[in-house]
Amino acid sequence: MTQFKSKLPNNFDLPRRINRLSELSYNLWWVWNPMAQRLFNRIDNNLWEQVNHNPIRWLRTIPRPVLNAAAQDPMYLELYDRVFADFDAYLKRADPWFGATHPQQQKQIAYFSMEFGLHETLPIYSGGLGVLSGDHLKETSDIGLPLVGVGLLYTEGYFSQRISEDGWQEAINNPLVFADLPLLPVLKDDGKELTIQVDFPDGPVLARIWEVRIGRTPLYLMDTNMDVNNPMVRQLTTRLYWSDVNLRIMQEVVLGVGGVRALRALGFNPSAWHMNEGHAAFMTLERAREVVKTGKTFDEAINQTKANNVFTTHTPVPAGNDEFPLWLIDKYLASLWPELGLTRDQFADLARHQQNWGETFSMPVLALKYSNGRNAVSELHGVVSRDMWKELWPGYTADEVPITYVTNGVHTSTWMARRIRVLYEKHFGADWLEHLDDFEMWEKMDSIQPQELWAVRSHLKRKLALYVQERARQRWMKGGFHPVQVIASGAMLDPYVLTIGFARRFATYKRASLVTSEFERLLNIINQPNRPVQIIFSGKSHPADEPGKMLIQEVYRSVKKAENGGRIVFIEDYDMNLARYLVQGVDIWMNTPRRPNEASGTSGMKAAVNGALNFSVLDGWWREAYNGDNGWAIGPDAELDEKVQDEADAESLYETLEKQIIPLYYNDRDVNDVPLKWVQRMKESMRTITPQFSTRRMLKEYVERLYLPAISKS
Ligand SMILES: *Cc1c(COP(=O)(O)O)cnc(C)c1O
Repeated sequence: MTQFKSKLPNNFDLPRRINRLSELSYNLWWVWNPMAQRLFNRIDNNLWEQVNHNPIRWLRTIPRPVLNAAAQDPMYLELYDRVFADFDAYLKRADPWFGATHPQQQKQIAYFSMEFGLHETLPIYSGGLGVLSGDHLKETSDIGLPLVGVGLLYTEGYFSQRISEDGWQEAINNPLVFADLPLLPVLKDDGKELTIQVDFPDGPVLARIWEVRIGRTPLYLMDTNMDVNNPMVRQLTTRLYWSDVNLRIMQEVVLGVGGVRALRALGFNPSAWHMNEGHAAFMTLERAREVVKTGKTFDEAINQTKANNVFTTHTPVPAGNDEFPLWLIDKYLASLWPELGLTRDQFADLARHQQNWGETFSMPVLALKYSNGRNAVSELHGVVSRDMWKELWPGYTADEVPITYVTNGVHTSTWMARRIRVLYEKHFGADWLEHLDDFEMWEKMDSIQPQELWAVRSHLKRKLALYVQERARQRWMKGGFHPVQVIASGAMLDPYVLTIGFARRFATYKRASLVTSEFERLLNIINQPNRPVQIIFSGKSHPADEPGKMLIQEVYRSVKKAENGGRIVFIEDYDMNLARYLVQGVDIWMNTPRRPNEASGTSGMKAAVNGALNFSVLDGWWREAYNGDNGWAIGPDAELDEKVQDEADAESLYETLEKQIIPLYYNDRDVNDVPLKWVQRMKESMRTITPQFSTRRMLKEYVERLYLPAISKS
């Protein structure tokens, strides 16, 4: 098991009987354990909401007399003792899946990612890639895999979103207060910060290292915002994904090269090295450099190290595939060529990629060429990726290109509503989570009574509606908000109406405006007096993505129209907190990507875990999950011309809503007003999707198919 490298601070003045709250606040284990959250929100839920579910801020703010009272309250202490018994048992358990199935395997795995979405209080993620990385680390801890995460700590995090009255996205950047976050500085024996160095043309750059504890798994984040660095360099880790190419390439050098150095400085010696997306691909070169230094040639070094490298590609969309013009490579990596024993041209050849506008150095090419393990993130994405990269394997047909796939999953206990967990505990047994990916267990779904499940779903939808209304109220009270925006943010949501959610990054290929494309027809659908429908939109665009922001504006125009009766709404500032409310509360989760651009998608899995039904284009994960009875498909299972596809998908969307979804929801209700056929479909969805599209199943595949083969070559 991995050892943590930082020391826990002793910075809260807590009553002795409950002083381990401090330790708990610095381990994100509480994020996926509702009982642990109860330790905070049971005492002061209002404060818990105010501090955005941040236990460290909560502990700093709560008055001492309140804690003294809790330390005297037998009920509270019973809860406290139970949570810490669970926590200790979790940390010490000797036989989670990995230890039980591979008892001799002690070698470490390194996992590099540009973003990690662990919780809303640590906004160092922008979307699906980050949330997947976060879920990966949580599951790693659950199954007891000896893995360490490596990433960057952004001093401002990802932006907060405001929508102006005319629908334009405004980005607000606020510095994060590190002292309020579960970030532990890694110090040397002399008490000074442990730092690593990376060389740039203007001189060396230092980065310090922070530890985040995720159950048993550590994550190390590098940050260059140090006095010794020049102002430009200090900015490097201010924000995610700088559009400025200079800052961007420097970020990726810090992540890839600096990340390897950080692991060495921390005393890790991983035997498998996983790059989650191409941003970290410079890691391959730093690892080769280490071996060249021992006297090997570059070819020997790269062949030796590539055997332990694993690369996951996440998108077929060009904007998601990083490449740099060669002049940038000359500028920032010139000092590396001689250290690798290469000339400038040989170096450029490592990842040369011909674009119609010129030659580039492509990060996915670098990662694909110098990793022996390569995977896409769904079956269809595997097909697309093999075709897309076949030029790298001359003489191979697309089918033969050695890129496999491991379909994404979600960390079930992070995303599943507590009430659903309680249902499963009752019907499947207290240890059901241990058997999460045991398909036989899920056959017990039938023992859950429709009323029982429907009551939970109705509760979750009410919770969502009340939350959205309260959010609109708070936003209104803050000022600078036009009355129409209050309605546009969901003030008139009805907790008893069929509710559709559409929330994700606003990128054009996701076609957020497909559902509003025939607006009159949509209005007619949603405004039926006896069977109304609500649609909730949410999502950010990258600040430099003008077409994405225009798409938000287009959707917002429909949202603001009085004729929709306040039933089409847009909620600002999509993040993991809002995502939880949405995936737990809506009836339908809709996704309309232009096929085959959605590599996998994960939010629909989160929704399914909570009993929402997916209604999506047969792209990414949904193409594998859809079985005809566990949700609905939009459009055909085929690729068509863009325009033809848009029209066919819109027609299919409206028709399926009118003829299938709405009648199934509102018709045939039993004496208790439960839509039995709908509930049956929910059960089919929960039963088939929860085990298969979990990080439990996903991590086991990574272990068996990618990590263990990489380790065996070390
Ligand atoms: C899950 C999640 C995503 C990814 O959703 P997709 O289905 O991949 O679009 C993005 N943002 C947040 C906040 C999420 O929780």
